[in-house]
Amino acid sequence: MIFKILQTGEQVLRQKARALTVEEIQQESTQALIQQMQNTLRDAPGVGLAAPQIGLSLQLVVIEDRPEYSQSLPASLAAAQERQPVPFHVIINPYIAEKSGTATFFEGCLSVAGLVALVPRANTVTVKCLNERAEPVTIHASGWYARILQHEIDHLHGQLCYDLMYSRSLISTENYRKYWLHQSIEKTCKELQIEKLSP
Ligand code: ZN
Repeated sequence: MIFKILQTGEQVLRQKARALTVEEIQQESTQALIQQMQNTLRDAPGVGLAAPQIGLSLQLVVIEDRPEYSQSLPASLAAAQERQPVPFHVIINPYIAEKSGTATFFEGCLSVAGLVALVPRANTVTVKCLNERAEPVTIHASGWYARILQHEIDHLHGQLCYDLMYSRSLISTENYRKYWLHQSIEKTCKELQIEKLSP
């Protein structure tokens, strides 16, 4: 089964999601939900899907950055983004315990289809959460994986990446690929007249 991915304007995308109990995580229905979220993520395709995006106000996220996704990027961009494939995994009741550095790149969201924007994020994060077996896990991530984690955890707090964007950088995905994908962020900022990126 593939879920319909809700678009911005649905109230659930702006609500704070609730934590799952260990018992709930271990239930068969939750395991089936995780499987269906994985199917939905691959179908989209995307690199992360949070339960509120399918209408469930729960602190549950699936993540997977498949190798073919970064292979289609310009090599210089993939290197700048520190983008590495991330195997499929589940984070439940996550929180960011530590973060440092800043990186700014174009970012999109499956719940705001067809648009991307420059979003500043921490470059390194430590996330504490439970996995799909309700075991405690600590994740140390940097680069694009750190961005995915921050984006998805924001969803659990009712925040969308457009809350953090440089508003002048909001552009269609089609025009992003046409005009901006192959040039540096510095040049892009100059041409979009974005004066200064966050430190
Ligand atoms: Zn999103």
